[in-house]
Amino acid sequence: MDKDPRDNRPHSPSSYSESKKNFDVLQVPLKYQTPSIQNSPIPSSDKSFIPIISDPTVSNFPSLNLDNNPHIPDVFGVSIPYSEDKLSIKNSLSSLNDSFINEAEQITVDFDLNLNPNSIEFLLDSSEISDIAKKLNKAISIREKYMDLSLQNEIDNPKNSDSWSIYPQNPPSAWKKNILTPEFENKEFDLNDLTIPESSSIKYSLGENGVFSLHNLGFNSSIEKINSFPSVKEFYEDYDFIMSLVHNGPIKTWTYKRLKYLEARWQMYLQLYELQERLESKNVPHRDFYNVRKVDTHVHLASCMNQKHLLRFIKFKIRTESDKQVIIRDNKMLTLKEVFQSLNLTAYEISIDTLDMHAHKDTFHRFDKFNLKYNPIGESRLRTIFLKTDNDINGLYFSQLVKEVCADLEASKYQMAEYRVSIYGNSISEWQKLADWVIDNKVYSHNVRWLIQVPRLYSNYKALGSVSNFQEIIYNIFQPIFEATKNPNKYPKIHAFLQRVVGFDSVDDESKVEKKLQELPTPMNWTTEHNPPYSYYCYYMYANICTLNQFRKHLGYNTFVFRPHSGEAGEIDHLASAYLTSQGISHGILLRKAPVLQYLFYLKQIGIAMSPLSNNALFLSYERNPLKSYFYQGLNVSLSTDDPLQFHYTKEPLIEEYSVASQVYRFSNVDMCELALNSVIQSGFEKKLKSHWIGHDYLSKGIYDVNKTNVPTMRTNYRRKTLEQEIKLINSLSFLA
Ligand SMILES: [Zn+2]
Repeated sequence: MDKDPRDNRPHSPSSYSESKKNFDVLQVPLKYQTPSIQNSPIPSSDKSFIPIISDPTVSNFPSLNLDNNPHIPDVFGVSIPYSEDKLSIKNSLSSLNDSFINEAEQITVDFDLNLNPNSIEFLLDSSEISDIAKKLNKAISIREKYMDLSLQNEIDNPKNSDSWSIYPQNPPSAWKKNILTPEFENKEFDLNDLTIPESSSIKYSLGENGVFSLHNLGFNSSIEKINSFPSVKEFYEDYDFIMSLVHNGPIKTWTYKRLKYLEARWQMYLQLYELQERLESKNVPHRDFYNVRKVDTHVHLASCMNQKHLLRFIKFKIRTESDKQVIIRDNKMLTLKEVFQSLNLTAYEISIDTLDMHAHKDTFHRFDKFNLKYNPIGESRLRTIFLKTDNDINGLYFSQLVKEVCADLEASKYQMAEYRVSIYGNSISEWQKLADWVIDNKVYSHNVRWLIQVPRLYSNYKALGSVSNFQEIIYNIFQPIFEATKNPNKYPKIHAFLQRVVGFDSVDDESKVEKKLQELPTPMNWTTEHNPPYSYYCYYMYANICTLNQFRKHLGYNTFVFRPHSGEAGEIDHLASAYLTSQGISHGILLRKAPVLQYLFYLKQIGIAMSPLSNNALFLSYERNPLKSYFYQGLNVSLSTDDPLQFHYTKEPLIEEYSVASQVYRFSNVDMCELALNSVIQSGFEKKLKSHWIGHDYLSKGIYDVNKTNVPTMRTNYRRKTLEQEIKLINSLSFLA
């Protein structure tokens, strides 16, 4: 790689101690100071925050010496020298580079917290603050226990090792293709090219506790249990502990104030460094918002295309394949022509208006109505023909449609997606059918990975008689994957498909009322018609993923994460379950009502795939969406589309999502690139690809390459430093008293 020419520039004062010398130059000239600023009095109402807020803003801010360099833009409002003449812009930029950018890169924005216990002792009830910090620390270590046991940390996944090979291999960069690897051919996926491993001798079984366990034959043929996971009792104890924090007054107040502080700190940072960030960003050759990688971290396969695309596809099929038999109704195979005749429609007559799948007007707080929007022209048979993987044409049309969407993604090159596809858990054959659909139709793309979404529909299946207890659902969801993990040679298609599955999701309308039960029966004994609560679903998904991951890691296969929909609507406690069990979540808009959880999500940098356009149609109007404040506070948020079929208009729904957010929330290019960076961090693409997209040290050191992400180093430094200090604060405070 070329040496960065900026490295040769003279080193400007950059370390914290050096920059500290220049504090005076940034202070308000005495004549403009009001008496209150000069004296820096302590407001009586909010004493607990004085040591923290007053230090960064008044005394410890790193400074830029404005006196010594005529090119330095005034961070307080004077604009940079600017000319229409391109050359002069270039010259002024390069001179700015020489004097300024290097300094900007080095600035770590070191707000010193000045944590002197003696100085805050008189302001705080130290035993109370210490108690708060200890409890928060405990909450953090509980989450770490859950993530460690279930191997959901990125580093634990065998696919993130250097030796992992991705099949089929991603094409090399365009410039490399011709020069370094002329022999590379973009090979189609072929199951015969895949090396299928032999069976494993480890045995598995589903216990009466509703969780699969692994066994080995030990000494004297005794059976040893070789996996571990928290028991349901332990889970509910931890869950109760987290919920006790959520409702604890002092912790609520404290975390709320910390979040407000983080937001204020962000505003201060932006006031001072926005211009420098922009300059650093401009200085990155080639990269801009369009060509940084962005992943659609939350999108459902059944609605991955926009409505115009679906309309065009349906019309094309009516014109070219009208005599194809597509669906069985009343024991009779109907052709496409007959289906549309029964609807009294011709290809010419159907339009976006007749399809009526947009959810903009009549779905607010009506998830039931929203679900009906999946039916083109309100007809479930059209959904079955065009949008299902398992139907009378073996999902042929749906596979063609999805491949067209994938081709659009590949054409855009920099956009990826993680499509969520359903396994319902009401039949044991679902996995095989899904894997057949993917492999036989070659529905794969270098830009796509899969998540398995499991709808929380026990009560429906029970009413229909397809299951008799909850344990059967667990069996249907997990048994086929345990079996394919143990005997990949017997289930090569499932084995091949699983290599591109990154995790599991749990979906349904969260606003449904949950029946409160004193005692929760085991899955085997869950035979009532009521749906189990969200926390119960989460635990059994989590515990089984735990065992499955331990099994797969042992065999060197890729492991899975749990990334449920959580905090879209309904009860706050959904987010507590997700905090314990999930690597990341979708939506999370209700975190704004639970500052303790919001703060914990910040501290653990739990990924939140947010979809403000989707929320706007269903649960929360756009301007009230907390995305902006989460982003300001430094939570790990990304933008995602959820359902382009219902919410978006263009061929690039993800860009549409970014576009609306940038305009409504006034996000800068740097902000957008940071959101894109977050989406890659949250995604389940293999380390090999992520390293190429955001920097080779992203996993080992948490460092992101500005040349790949276009996110200025000073921005990532600011985020890292702020988080480190916040953690340091809690650790220090827990030793008070
Ligand atoms: Zn969704």
